[in-house]
Amino acid sequence: MSRSIEQTLGGAILAAMLVAASPVKADDLSLADKIALLITAYPETLLKSESGSIFFPDGGSSPIDDGKAKDHAAKLAAGDIEDSLSQIYPAGACETKPDVNFDPGRIRSDALMMRLYGASTEQVEASLVSVDWFGKKLRVTKRQGAAAALEKVRDELRAMPDMKTFLAPSAGTFNWRKVAGASNMPVHSFGAAIDINTQYADYWIWSGGKPGRVPHYKNRYPMKIIDAFERHGFIWGGRWYHYDTMHFEYRPELIAIGKAAGVSACR
Ligand SMILES: [Zn+2]
Repeated sequence: MSRSIEQTLGGAILAAMLVAASPVKADDLSLADKIALLITAYPETLLKSESGSIFFPDGGSSPIDDGKAKDHAAKLAAGDIEDSLSQIYPAGACETKPDVNFDPGRIRSDALMMRLYGASTEQVEASLVSVDWFGKKLRVTKRQGAAAALEKVRDELRAMPDMKTFLAPSAGTFNWRKVAGASNMPVHSFGAAIDINTQYADYWIWSGGKPGRVPHYKNRYPMKIIDAFERHGFIWGGRWYHYDTMHFEYRPELIAIGKAAGVSACR
């Protein structure tokens, strides 16, 4: 090996070590960085960002920031695109005990979700396909690659027979519901979420929680299930302060942003 190649390799290894030793802090990732990752995650529908808006192939657009100051409850009720990317999701095969009001992914922009999946039950239903889930058929949207990603998760989990009891029967996927006034639309409305076997579920409301009072965090699902979902673009409701451990939803932008920010559940 020539000296110059050796030096180059040494430099590359040193650079890699420095990256590993000092991951980008969540706050160092700019909104523009996050928006770029969002657009990359949904190439079917998101064209570009320009002048503070995201543009769609039909020429329509959606503002990234509505300019309103909001507390956590207000972000949950009426999040804009910026709000939906404000908390960085930590992925990995390790459990996390979420801090107060740390709900990464629970804040969503209804306007964006409707663009990605459909703005009415009829529009969403037009893109639902059947996914086999351990012997039962589930209705999942094919838009944005969600159904294909869920099939990949299923195929991985099928190879772990001892996990089936946690996964099936599924407690549901598509369910269009608009909660009047108080809350945004769950991803179940768009056919891009799944609840696994409720027998092992812990949900902050079922545990006796009320707005402003969240019971102690609990999880009974093995982390290798969560890891399989996250590796295919799904986030887990068990990482939320307002926990919902049976719930997974397809949010590949949040997995990509967490990775780019160097955030992991295992640190
Ligand atoms: Zn759910």
